[in-house]
Amino acid sequence: MTIAGVRAALDLETAASEMLAWMADLYPICRSITGDGVRETLSLVKQQIPLTVHEVPSGTPVFDWTVPKEWNVRDAWVETADGERVIDFRTSNLHVLNGSVPVHARMSLEALRPHLFTLPEHPDWVPYRTSYYAERWGFCLSHNRLQRLREGEYEVCIDATLENGHLTYGECYVQGETSDEVLLSAHVCHPSLANDNLSGIALLTFLARALAGLRPRYSYRFLFIPGTIGAITWLALNEAHVGRIKHGLVVACVGDAGRSTYKKSRRGDAEIDRVVAHVLRHAGAAYEIVDFSPYGYDERQFCSPGFDLPVGCFMRTPHGRFPEYHTSADDLDLVQPAALADSLDKALAVIEVLEGNGTYVNLNPRCEPQLGRRGLYRMLGGPADAGLDELALLWTLSLSDGRHCLLDVAERSGQPFAAVRRAADVLEHHGLLTDAHVQPHPAGGIRP
Ligand code: ZN
Repeated sequence: MTIAGVRAALDLETAASEMLAWMADLYPICRSITGDGVRETLSLVKQQIPLTVHEVPSGTPVFDWTVPKEWNVRDAWVETADGERVIDFRTSNLHVLNGSVPVHARMSLEALRPHLFTLPEHPDWVPYRTSYYAERWGFCLSHNRLQRLREGEYEVCIDATLENGHLTYGECYVQGETSDEVLLSAHVCHPSLANDNLSGIALLTFLARALAGLRPRYSYRFLFIPGTIGAITWLALNEAHVGRIKHGLVVACVGDAGRSTYKKSRRGDAEIDRVVAHVLRHAGAAYEIVDFSPYGYDERQFCSPGFDLPVGCFMRTPHGRFPEYHTSADDLDLVQPAALADSLDKALAVIEVLEGNGTYVNLNPRCEPQLGRRGLYRMLGGPADAGLDELALLWTLSLSDGRHCLLDVAERSGQPFAAVRRAADVLEHHGLLTDAHVQPHPAGGIRP
């Protein structure tokens, strides 16, 4: 079966409800950039797809960075003198400043205050805050909760460890016909946040599942890595092989109700940039394409000038542009099944174009070939789209001079890629078109 076949056969509604149910299993896990939360997450991914889990020791130099100590947290709380837990990690892992050093002390509310983080503009929500590279401790809570805290002495405890261990990441490789790779990456370092982090993990996992058992043209490498340091670590360990990466996407925030957004690679005109733009243009819904900027997800690392990989970022509403971003309101209710399904379908559509794109040569380039004699007009579909397919045939013949790929044909003709791909298949079958790599010069063609 082909990617197009897989995409056509996929029941998106069922896929989305499966993805959401699976995200509910991942949701309670306290992830961070290192530690058992990442391992537990990857073990759930491994139940779905073949995954290799890598452990990189703390202290390993990775370019200008160092793999940090491993953080694990068992419990965290703030308790009144009466023994009432006013902040409790067990009710939400967002309550602990992610990466906190351990603490166990008694202190006044005044002394505690600098360690408490709230969101006054959304007083019911708990913010998600991190402290990875400075040895700090703290708690996050709703502003309403903070305002109800009375003066007095509190017992505070963060039962955590920050010690030498490992940075953990997962990798799933789908072998294709060539060693040229498509890189797909999602971050796995956020605790109970659904759209930011879990939607990307779910999309990539189900995408890898959809590709399993196929023999695609490209090989596919799926990375499940902690943000920033995970990408830096992966690049440091795989520097010698990055030349195989021909296209790539970082996938994040793909489940909210907002429109699809694509952030272009640093190159801006890479094939992946054009392919995603093409898919979004023909998807029949509002979308946004934004230029690269060195701020965002791990495309920052993949596109850094020393690598300059053709990797864009596939999202719905970008980070920081939805109010629930990095708060307790980014929960499973924020993720819309239809949006998740739509994102999965578009990702498959992108792969379908990448897989199907190629450059061809018209074997009958002197004037139009006589299509009717070859029965090609009879092959056209129903009257409604007959004109479309005819145009696709003519455009494909017209631009197949060994210098234009099928995506060029689709863009210039305004046809969806699938129609152009279908036209190329039919023309090839009838000996009117051949792969430019097989036949580099147009037979009988006149070269300037
Ligand atoms: Zn985030």
